[in-house]
Amino acid sequence: MTTPAPQPLRLVEEFVNTHHVHPHRDDDDLEGLHTPDELKSWLVERELVGADEPVHAADLTYAIETREALRRLLLTNGGAQPDEQAVETVNRAATRGQLTLRFDVDGGSGLKPIARGVDGAIGTILAVAFAAMAEGSWSRLKVCPEETCRVAFFDHSKNRSRRWCSMEVCGNRTKVRSYRQRQLETAAE
Ligand SMILES: [Zn+2]
Repeated sequence: MTTPAPQPLRLVEEFVNTHHVHPHRDDDDLEGLHTPDELKSWLVERELVGADEPVHAADLTYAIETREALRRLLLTNGGAQPDEQAVETVNRAATRGQLTLRFDVDGGSGLKPIARGVDGAIGTILAVAFAAMAEGSWSRLKVCPEETCRVAFFDHSKNRSRRWCSMEVCGNRTKVRSYRQRQLETAAE
């Protein structure tokens, strides 16, 4: 079990982990957002939309598309090649959320969405990512590179060198697979 990301970055981690393929379980349906209602309860629970705000099928498609783009950005944090399309997708989402710099009476400031509903909620999630990038913790939030996993996890290690969610499970899986691959290649020669 991995220790979750500190707040508020945990919001991004939890959002990405509303779906992952988990190597510790056989159940392969681990989508947490099947319906607009499921998306709505997830967002209402985190006070990202009001209980009276409607969530439609198109919002669900949009949320999942943004979630998967964020997953690809987090893969890059773990060392994967930058993904231009994923960057475009989150840029479009930032525009849709109408993220704007707001100052508050407590002496702070931050990006806040002007858009309401799911567009605004996704905007808030992206604003959290922005703040983490500015503050330096973003690069610790990674996605496990093991293709049967892809879970988001926070790298608490001192030198930020952690690659897999679990060395025992995913690290070994990746190693066994590349070992077999090498054997196949040798056999083919
Ligand atoms: Zn993993």
